[in-house]
Amino acid sequence: MSQSLATVAYLGAAILFILSLGGLSNPETSRRGNLFGMIGMALAVLATVAGPHVSASGIGWIVAALVIGGGVGLYAAKVVKMTQMPELVALMHSLVGLAACLVGFASYVDTSVQFQGSEKLIHEVEIYVGILIGAITFSGSLIAFGKLNGRIGGKPVLLPARHWLNLVALLVVIWFGRQFILAPGTAEGMTPLIVMTVISLLFGVHMVMAIGGADMPVVVSMLNSYSGWAAAATGFMLNNDLLIVTGALVGSSGAILSYIMCNAMNRNFISVIAGGFGSGGGAPAKKGEASEPQGVVVPVSAAETAELLREAKSVIIVPGYGMAVAQAQHTVCEITKTLREKSVDVRFAIHPVAGRMPGHMNVLLAEAKVPYDIVMEMDEINGDFPEADVAMIIGANDIVNPSAAEDPTSPIAGMPVLEVWKAKNSIVMKRSMSSGYAGVGNPLFYKDNNRMLFGDAKKMLEEVLGALNP
Ligand code: NDP
Repeated sequence: MSQSLATVAYLGAAILFILSLGGLSNPETSRRGNLFGMIGMALAVLATVAGPHVSASGIGWIVAALVIGGGVGLYAAKVVKMTQMPELVALMHSLVGLAACLVGFASYVDTSVQFQGSEKLIHEVEIYVGILIGAITFSGSLIAFGKLNGRIGGKPVLLPARHWLNLVALLVVIWFGRQFILAPGTAEGMTPLIVMTVISLLFGVHMVMAIGGADMPVVVSMLNSYSGWAAAATGFMLNNDLLIVTGALVGSSGAILSYIMCNAMNRNFISVIAGGFGSGGGAPAKKGEASEPQGVVVPVSAAETAELLREAKSVIIVPGYGMAVAQAQHTVCEITKTLREKSVDVRFAIHPVAGRMPGHMNVLLAEAKVPYDIVMEMDEINGDFPEADVAMIIGANDIVNPSAAEDPTSPIAGMPVLEVWKAKNSIVMKRSMSSGYAGVGNPLFYKDNNRMLFGDAKKMLEEVLGALNP
């Protein structure tokens, strides 16, 4: 394939990626968006493999890598559960970071192309910055992976004088950057490059370890953005326009998503990066039992829940992470249908960080074919709880925790939550009194108008459905 044909194919792929992002912004067009992305990626890979930069002897290597990578991807897509998706995404981000580092080192030691003067300077800056972003993305994403799957505790780890440590690390990286650029040869430049890589790896670990509680969603989308910039940096090093465009698309869309999530969480982006949310102010949260709030918990049976729902005029359902774990979305949809047939007004309230990834609940409800027009964002529906007869909370905890709104000393104070306790009755469906992701006790469980339906969400909802349709 000639260079000009490859360029045209790259342009087509870039347009498809933009259309893909546009499609993914709405549940109704998201399937089409995915399809555009897949076609774009197939076109990009084909144009690269058949393009002028790949020699016949290299094809074998590329095909072998494609078969192995494609096989691992297919296997992962088949076995991974929906609730493990955020971990998988974090792991994939780490691979993008690792690739940027490896490409950076490879292009530094590659002597087949000799750069001179300002071209050499630009090439070396690309390498240095590419490895810097790649190393932070790699180690930060690995820690995020550990935090999301519970191997690393969710509580922030805050080193003393951590901001000073970060500042010193930045200054050291800049100083070694100067050494790297001034180095007369590859051998002399290698030491500053390796030192910077180690510092960046440590910085990535430090940055994500310091973030805890309910700030993890922002970190996940921020690392998504970093992986995009790491890919763009790789594109610069390899002189590949499509990689630059694609990386920039991922980088900027991830940055916009981080910004939107910060706004939704009432958090300032800088303070998220500075870390420590969930650690200060309130009493340290104990993972497991909701230890702080006190009062009487009133359990309720599935039959009583069905009775409350049948008598209600307006019901607001709040899904959370537990609905995803129990895979209860189809039963929720059946209950919704039954209630609507009985002229009960049913709507869903979606918190921006419900579940473990942005849009987690929307995907599950769309999969179960819940009509889009009754699925509301937090801002659209939060004012309607006082008029609702029943707020039914399915496997959600942090996103309905009143202490965020009512207790300034709470570790999650200031995070906007769904005000379910303002409904005439609320029913929380979960298996025990355990706390949620942020590890904070929930006073909602002890409110007078709240009832607890203990059990696996799917099992309990099936019982409720059975009682609604005897
Ligand atoms: P939470 O993690 O706060 O609570 C989920 C609850 O579901 C748990 O308390 C658990 O209680 C219950 N549960 C688990 N399994 C089941 C089951 N099979 N049946 C019934 N209940 C079950 O979830 P929320 O959705 O309320 O909040 C999301 C949290 O995750 C926030 O803190 C958010 O910041 C964080 N987060 C969100 C991300 C995102 O992008 N959306 C990314 C990373 C973190 P029990 O064990 O008693 O059943």
